[in-house]
Amino acid sequence: MSLQVSLQGKNAIVTGSTSGIGMGIAKAFAKLGANVLINGLGDAAQIETERASIETEFGVKCLYSPANMMVGSEVTGMVKLAVDTWGGVDILVNNAGIQFVSPIEEFPDDKFEQIIRINLVAAFYAIKAAIPSMKTRGWGRIINISSAHGLVASPFKSAYVAAKHGISGLSKTVALEVATSKITSNCIAPGYVWTPLVESQIPDTMKARGMTKEQVINDVLLHAQPTKEFVTIEQVADIACFLCSDAASAITGTTLSVDGGWTAA
Ligand code: NAD
Repeated sequence: MSLQVSLQGKNAIVTGSTSGIGMGIAKAFAKLGANVLINGLGDAAQIETERASIETEFGVKCLYSPANMMVGSEVTGMVKLAVDTWGGVDILVNNAGIQFVSPIEEFPDDKFEQIIRINLVAAFYAIKAAIPSMKTRGWGRIINISSAHGLVASPFKSAYVAAKHGISGLSKTVALEVATSKITSNCIAPGYVWTPLVESQIPDTMKARGMTKEQVINDVLLHAQPTKEFVTIEQVADIACFLCSDAASAITGTTLSVDGGWTAA
């Protein structure tokens, strides 16, 4: 990014960083000098290759935690791993997320609960575990990856919209509680970013709306995005870096939209 930000000496946790936006943020932090703990699902050998390449490419330490964001104790254990290994954590990005698209009458109960756990409850456990270390270090950045769906709704996404509105409330409450501790807590709310999460919801949206793939992309996904372009992973990662800068130290308890104008309408 063009703004001068150094994260040398900082330790960052990015949940759900084996793919998509999370991976982009973890690499952007590493490029600025931060040690990063990556987390997420996927093929163990591929994740190890990714972890090792972050260390060699950026000259930082990179840890991997396989913690399942469905399980509170594993989320707490992930934060403990970073604190025990590095002596503390400075930056926490709650990014892990899943999506499921269905009319409410048919929405599977287990999917609803899974989405709330991964997209919202995991952030509670991670924030709760990370704040004591941030307080000890006298500095902290909590960044919650919300969505335009944290500000407005779309049909067939009841669990996701509920979780994203919820994380906005959690983020604001935490901001008030740690305001005098040099810790900020904010949400980034992207519009549609082309990642596996978006790609994978296309078949269900085709089914729910009776549309072709092209119609879903143009008439559903990009319909609400006035720029008619997908947001890039790098654009979201740069905002996360900005939130870690000194320039952003007075920005707390808010949501930064990166949505090509979606929520202006
Ligand atoms: P993605 O599918 O590419 O990545 C999701 C990550 O979360 C992966 O690393 C996956 O392994 C991890 N994950 C999923 N379930 C997990 C679990 N139980 N435990 C641990 N990790 C788990 O998705 P993405 O598009 O990069 O989304 C990242 C975040 O950005 C999500 O919170 C999503 O809601 C948000 N977001 C995405 C978009 C978009 O258009 N892509 C828009 C707005 C917000």
